[in-house]
Amino acid sequence: MKRLWIVLLLAGWALAGKTQPVTKQPDPYIQQLLARVSADSIEANIRRLAAFGTRHTLSPTDNDTFGIGAARRWIKRTLERYAAAGGGRMEVFFDRFWYGPDGRRVDRRVEIVNVIARLPGTDPEDDRIFIVSGHYDSRVSDVMDSLSYAPGASDDASGTAAVMEMARVLARERFPATILFVAMAAEEQGLLGARHLAAMADSLGWNVAGMFTLDIIGNTEGDNRVRDNRTVRVFSEGVPSAETPQQARLRQAIGGENDSPSRQLARYLHEIGARYVPELRVKLIFRRDRFLRGGDHIPFNERGFAAVRLTEPNEAYTRQHQDVRVENGIAYGDVPDRVDFDYVARVTRLMTAALANLAMAPPPPAAAYIDARGLSVDTRLLWEPPRAGRDRLAGYYVLVRETTAPQWQQKWFVSATDTSYTFVGWSKDDYFFGIQSVDAQGHESRILFPVPRFR
Ligand SMILES: [Zn+2]
Repeated sequence: MKRLWIVLLLAGWALAGKTQPVTKQPDPYIQQLLARVSADSIEANIRRLAAFGTRHTLSPTDNDTFGIGAARRWIKRTLERYAAAGGGRMEVFFDRFWYGPDGRRVDRRVEIVNVIARLPGTDPEDDRIFIVSGHYDSRVSDVMDSLSYAPGASDDASGTAAVMEMARVLARERFPATILFVAMAAEEQGLLGARHLAAMADSLGWNVAGMFTLDIIGNTEGDNRVRDNRTVRVFSEGVPSAETPQQARLRQAIGGENDSPSRQLARYLHEIGARYVPELRVKLIFRRDRFLRGGDHIPFNERGFAAVRLTEPNEAYTRQHQDVRVENGIAYGDVPDRVDFDYVARVTRLMTAALANLAMAPPPPAAAYIDARGLSVDTRLLWEPPRAGRDRLAGYYVLVRETTAPQWQQKWFVSATDTSYTFVGWSKDDYFFGIQSVDAQGHESRILFPVPRFR
């Protein structure tokens, strides 16, 4: 009964004013990009990565066929080939630094090398950078064993191959914002490649508008014997890792525990998935990462960036961080033959759709507020236009949900000439609100959670 009343209220509100409920259709252009994603190409690259024997951070670098040096040179060459086929706009480079020993997982001085393909944005005023990563290093049971066979097919050749496939598919496209496709190094030795890149992004003042890490996206059969090739989990932090005491007080005052920038990014993926890859269910997990595990999104969270992790639906610990062997009739090890390549392609399509949609969208409003100058039975939202991309701006979406709802429930269009909207008869105490920019083709920016304005 209560739900019915809400529907009626929304209907009345729409009829009364400037807004209209949004029916979101897939963009045929993005659908055509997704059709280019190839499970065969992904399979070939996962098998190639596994064939380097090991990609352990401390493994040999001077050999042409074995070890991490050969692996990263092959990744770079392959990305360069994709860049050339795409007309040469995408640039490929090593992001390298020396590290250690650290008394933990690195016992000597070693060069750590991320491989990055950068697809530059076409709008010089739009400084947004989207980062998508998989880690190309691998390991076996002993984290210091740098020579044993460590194919790391699902962990994380799958994510690396997905990122390479996105670079292949998007290399010739022109988006206003910039995308970095990153094969991250030394994840298994303590997220070292990601820590370096996140620190660099922070110190150079990059506007990292979203970071996604695809880590373990290859197995569709869990140790719990559940087979599921139609679900991907998205992990996102609730309370921001980098929150200041002042931000904590604001969050406590407005109940913002479930509305961090990372969580909005996760919800965004959920919506884009339903629109473009409906055969894949995006299952949101409201925590930063799995128990006893970490991922390359965490250093970005710790630097205050919105960042999430995508991973397969059911854990297969028999295949993660294991020596390849058979013991008591159980096959251990992360070998390519156990990867579901069609599933990796599905996750790659989801991520490709989200990246394209984000990179084409106008930037979000520069700021968003909820009017808290006094007590009122109405709710008034105010926002400032985006700093860039205003020529692409068609308007804004205002999003609403019940305080107990995990996802946004309603989305309404407001024209570009408006910078405020009043929900007559809606108490700001009883709902959460969000705002995003949108262009004429329906590409939405990330979602801003409005903060109270007291004056
Ligand atoms: Zn991993």
